[in-house]
Amino acid sequence: MSHLDPDRLSLIALGETATAEERAHLDVCDECALELAELEYTVVVGRSTVALGDLQAPPERVWDRIAAEVKLGAAEGPAPDADDGMPGAAGAASAPVEDAPGAPDAEKPATRRRGIRLLFALAASLALIVAVVGTWNFVRQPEPVELASATLDAFPAHPGASGSAVVVEKPDGERQVEVDLDDGEQGDGFREVWLIKADASALVSLGVLKGSTGVFEVPDDIDLREYVLVDISLEPEDGDPDHSGDSIVRGELGFA
Ligand SMILES: [Zn+2]
Repeated sequence: MSHLDPDRLSLIALGETATAEERAHLDVCDECALELAELEYTVVVGRSTVALGDLQAPPERVWDRIAAEVKLGAAEGPAPDADDGMPGAAGAASAPVEDAPGAPDAEKPATRRRGIRLLFALAASLALIVAVVGTWNFVRQPEPVELASATLDAFPAHPGASGSAVVVEKPDGERQVEVDLDDGEQGDGFREVWLIKADASALVSLGVLKGSTGVFEVPDDIDLREYVLVDISLEPEDGDPDHSGDSIVRGELGFA
C-alpha cells in the first residue's frame, strides 16, 4: 500500500479534516498514524509555546518515555488479547504464522496499536490543556491590588451612620477609592467624598457620592500616606465648594 503524502499528514496535523480514504488508511497503517501523532504533538508544542511563553521540559520527557514504551511494546510480541484466541500460548516468533498471508501489517502486535492510541490520546489531552491555559491567559485580567482600607465612623450629628473605604491600585497605576456609606437618613443637599491630611491642614474633594456606593479616582499628586483620612460630608446646595464642616462619617486608612 502507498502511504499518505507527508504534506497531507502535516495539514491534517494542523487541523485539516482527513478524507474518508485518508482516515481509512490511518486506521490500518501504524506508520502513518504514528507519524501523524508525532506531527500533531509538534503542532501542540508549537502552539503551547505561543500560549505559555517558555516551554517547560517535562512534556518532552513524558513524550520520550511514552515513545520508548511504545517501542518496547512493539518488541514484546502479541498482546494477550490478540484475536487469534491463543493468549500467552504463542510467542513472538509463532504469531505471524497464525496471520493471514499477504497482510503486511498483520504481524504488528495489538500492543503497538494501543500505544499509538495512547499517543493520540496524549496529543489530544495536551491540545486540550493548551486550549484551556491559552483561554485562561486570554480571559484573565490583571487584578487591582488593594493598597489600604478604612472603617468610616459616624459623627455625633449622624448617629447610626457607618461606612467603609478601600483603596486599590489598578494595573495601569491608577488609584481608586471605593466608598460604601450607610447613613439611613437622607438630609437636604448632597454627599461629598474627601481625602484629608491627618492634621487637617489640607483636603481634596474626590467627588459627589450618589447612592450608597461610589468609586473615585485618587489624583496622581495625592500622597495617601499624608491624606490618610477618608471623609464623607453632607453638603448644602449653596454653591460653596468648600467642605461644609458637616461630616457624616470619617476614618483613617490602614495600609496593607
Ligand atoms: Zn501509511
